[in-house]
Amino acid sequence: MILPDAGSAAFQTLDAAALLAALPDPVAHLGADGQVTLNRAAQARVAQYSATGDWMALFQASSVPAIRDAVQAALRGETRQVTVQVVDTAAPGLLTVAPASGGALLHLHVARDPLEVALELMDGLGLGMTVQAPDTRILLANDAAARILGMTREQLLGRDSMDPEWRAVHPDGTDFPGETHPSVQALRTLQVQREVPMGVYHPQEQDWRWLQVTAIPRRVPGATQPKQVTTVFADVTEKQAMQTEMRRRERRYRSLVRATSQIVWDAFPDGDFQPPQAEWEAFTGQTPAQYRGVGWLDAIHPDDRAHTLAEWQRAVRDGDVYSVEHRLRRADGQYVPMQVRAVPVTDERGQLGEWVGTHSDLSAIREAEQALRALNAELEGRVQQRTEDLARVTRFSTLLLTAAGEGIFGLDGRGVTTFANPAAARMLGYSIERMIGQPQHDLVHHHHEDGRPYALAECPIHQTLRDGQTRRVERDVMWHAQGHAVPVAYVVTPTHDEQGQPSGAVVMVQDITERIRAQEQLQELIEDLERSNQDLEQFAYVASHDLQEPLRTVGSYTELLARRYQGQLDPRADQYLHFMQDAVDRMRSLIQDLLGFARLSRADLTLTPVALDTLLRGVQQNVRGTLDADGSSLTWDTPDQVMGQASLLTQLLTNLVSNGLKFHRPGEAAHVQVTSRREGDMIHVQVRDNGIGIAPEYHARIFEIFQRLHRRETYAGNGMGLAICRKITEHHGGRIWLDSTPDQGSTFHLTLPAVPS
Ligand code: ADP
Repeated sequence: MILPDAGSAAFQTLDAAALLAALPDPVAHLGADGQVTLNRAAQARVAQYSATGDWMALFQASSVPAIRDAVQAALRGETRQVTVQVVDTAAPGLLTVAPASGGALLHLHVARDPLEVALELMDGLGLGMTVQAPDTRILLANDAAARILGMTREQLLGRDSMDPEWRAVHPDGTDFPGETHPSVQALRTLQVQREVPMGVYHPQEQDWRWLQVTAIPRRVPGATQPKQVTTVFADVTEKQAMQTEMRRRERRYRSLVRATSQIVWDAFPDGDFQPPQAEWEAFTGQTPAQYRGVGWLDAIHPDDRAHTLAEWQRAVRDGDVYSVEHRLRRADGQYVPMQVRAVPVTDERGQLGEWVGTHSDLSAIREAEQALRALNAELEGRVQQRTEDLARVTRFSTLLLTAAGEGIFGLDGRGVTTFANPAAARMLGYSIERMIGQPQHDLVHHHHEDGRPYALAECPIHQTLRDGQTRRVERDVMWHAQGHAVPVAYVVTPTHDEQGQPSGAVVMVQDITERIRAQEQLQELIEDLERSNQDLEQFAYVASHDLQEPLRTVGSYTELLARRYQGQLDPRADQYLHFMQDAVDRMRSLIQDLLGFARLSRADLTLTPVALDTLLRGVQQNVRGTLDADGSSLTWDTPDQVMGQASLLTQLLTNLVSNGLKFHRPGEAAHVQVTSRREGDMIHVQVRDNGIGIAPEYHARIFEIFQRLHRRETYAGNGMGLAICRKITEHHGGRIWLDSTPDQGSTFHLTLPAVPS
C-alpha cells in the first residue's frame, strides 16, 4: 500500500489515532487540560521506568527544562525539535514537539543503542563480547561469547565475575581468580586492559580454550565511578598451540646451536646484520659500527670474501640454508677456519622472521683431518705393501698348489672343502668345483679299504679339526669318483685364524698305489731271494755232503798208491802223487768249510752270556802254532760279555785273528790286537792288525764265499773264512765291516748283542 500525500484529501481521511498507535517510536499527546495520551510504543517504554506512567520518567533530568520550553512553544503554535538524554540508553534522542488540537504532540525518536550495534558487529567477526554492570553482572552478551564460553546467552546473563563456576587459568597454568579478570581490573582501574591471555574451561568440549581478552571501562563523562565494562575476547586456542610449538622448536634450535658452536648470531630477514651480536664481537673484536650491515665481511679473510658474500646473498634471496666455509679473523689477528651455517627462522604464518647463524671453529677438526689423512696415507701404504706381499704369496701358493704333485685340500672347521688343487681333483676323479663346498669326508673318505663305513669320529682328518694336532697317516684309502679306492698316505695340518683359534686344516694326500706296488715287488724279491738262498744252502749242503764220499775214496786210493809205489816209479811220478794228495787235502778242507757254512742256521742258535776274554783264550790256543813259529803276537783288552753261542763265536774270532796273523807284510812280525767296548745294546769288537791292508774296492767283496785277493802260493786259504764270519755275526743280530789302508794294516769291526742288564 502507498500512503497518500500528507496534504491530500485522502490523507485527511486517515485515522490519526490508528496511525499513532502503529508508530514504533514513542508518541505522547498532551491535551490542553493536561491530559497525557501515550501510543503503544510509549506505553511499553514508560512502564519500564515509571510505575505511575509518567511520561517524563523516560528522560534524564538534565533534558527536562528544554522539553518544558518546547511544550510551551507548541502551545503557542510553534513546532520545536530538541535533543534529549533518554534514561535507558547513552544514545541521544530527538524529541519533536508540535502543536496539536489545543495541546501538543511529542514524538521521540531514539537512535539504536551503539552497544547493541557493537555486539552484533563483534558477533560477525567471531569475537565474543559482554557488557558488565559495575557489580560485574553480565548485562549483555553476543552469540559468539556464548559459543566461545560454552554456554547459552541466558546462562551468561546475570552471572558475575566472582561466580565460582568460572574456571580460568594463566598461560603458565596457574589459577586466574575472578577478582583479577581483565573486566574487573578495568572497572577498578578505569584503564583499558589489552589482550590479556586467559585459559577458560569449555564445559562442553571438556578442554581448555585460550582467549585473548580486552576490557574497556565505560563511565559517564565527569563521573568518577564506572558505569559499565565492555569485554571483547577472541578464541586463540589454535594460534596458541602453534606458538607454543614454535617457541618449543626455537628453544630447541637455539640450545642446539649454542651447544655445538662458538659463535651464534642473527640477522634480519633481508640479511641485514645488526647489533647486538655479543658473541661475534667477543670473537672478532669488531665494534657494532664495524660489523653493521655488511661490515662483518671485513673480518673474513680477503680470499674468502667474494664467495662468502655471494653465498649469503643467494641464501637471503632464496630463503635457503646458508652454508659456507671461510677464515674468520680472531681479535688477535689470527685467521681461524670456520664452518658457517645459517637457517631462516619462520613464524607461525610461515613468514621469514629472522636468520640464525653459527660459526664453528674448524681448526680442531682440520687438525684431526690432517692427522687422519696422514694416518690414512700410512695405512694405505701398509695396505698396499701387504696387498703386494699377499699377491706374491698368493701367486706363489697358487703355483705351488697347481704344480704340486701331491693332492692338497683345504677344509674349514666343519670339514667342508674350501679349496682343492688339480692334483687332488685328478687323483680322485672329481672336478675342483665339485669338491669345493662339499663335506670332504662324505665325498671321498666315507669307507675303509675293507668296506666298513668310516665313522667321522675315527677319521684322523676330523680329529685334527677338533684338536688342532698335526697328523700323518701312512696307509688309508680315499674313494675315487668312479667308485674304486685309491690307496693314500696323507698329512693333516691344522690352520688357524688371526686369533690363533683352529679354523680348519690342510690335507696333503699322496697316491701310494705305485709305492705299494714297489713294496710288494720288493717283498716278492726278498722272498724269492730267501727261497733261492735256502735252495743254494740246501744245494751246498747236499753237494758238499755227497762230494765227501767220492773224495774220501780218491783220498784213500791216493794214499794207497803213495804208500805202495813211492820211490818205485820215477821222481816225476812221485811229484804227481804229492800234488794229488795235496789237492785231496785242500778239497777236504774246502768241503768241510762249505758244509760248515751251509749248516749254519739261525734256528739252531742258542744264545748264552759269554765272556770275550774266555773266547780269546780259546782263540789263542787255536793259533798257537803260528804264534810260536815266527814271533807274531796276539793281545786283547775285552772286558765285555756278549750273548752268543761260544763255539761259533770262537770260530768267528779265530778266523779274524788268523787272517790278521796270516796277511802280514813280508819280513815283519804280525801283531794282532783285539778290543771291545759297549755301545748301547751292542758290544763293539775290533780286531786290528799291522798287515798288508785291503784296498777299499774289495771291502765288500771279501765277505762273499770263495773270494780271495791273492794267489794261493802267496797266502794260503780257500776264501770261505770271512763269508762264515759274516754269517755268524748276522745270525747273532750283529754287523761286520772293516776299515783298512793298504800296507798299513786292517781293522775288522763287529757288533754282537750285549748281555741285557
Ligand atoms: P782266506 O781263506 O783266503 O783267508 P778269507 O775269506 O778269510 O779267505 O779272506 C778272503 C780274502 O780277504 C783273503 O784271501 C785276503 O785276500 C783278504 N784278507 C782277509 N783278511 C785279511 C787281513 N787281515 N789282511 C789282509 N787281507 C785280508
